[in-house]
Amino acid sequence: MNVRRRIYMAYLLGFPALVIALGLALLVHPKFLVLVFAVQFGLGIYVIMRKCPQCGKAVLNNPITLFGTTMYIWTGRVPAHCSRCGASLTGADFGGSKDPRH
Ligand SMILES: [Zn+2]
Repeated sequence: MNVRRRIYMAYLLGFPALVIALGLALLVHPKFLVLVFAVQFGLGIYVIMRKCPQCGKAVLNNPITLFGTTMYIWTGRVPAHCSRCGASLTGADFGGSKDPRH
């Protein structure tokens, strides 16, 4: 699974996880609010930690140009190519995936 797909899977997982945790907190016991924060915090850390497989730059930390100045901000969108080294972020990920299709 490539870096881009991992991040979008985390986004996709985040919403139902939030709904379930909020439902438990509202309907079962307010202590489940801890779960709401834990799940969202965990997924947030997970997506922030995703790095370019080639140069190791955080995938979601990307440059934007504002008033002629380029600055790096955290974005939610994953670019198709690394903004530092240009490596494809949609291609095969050699960092641990044992899936024979890649
Ligand atoms: Zn890179």
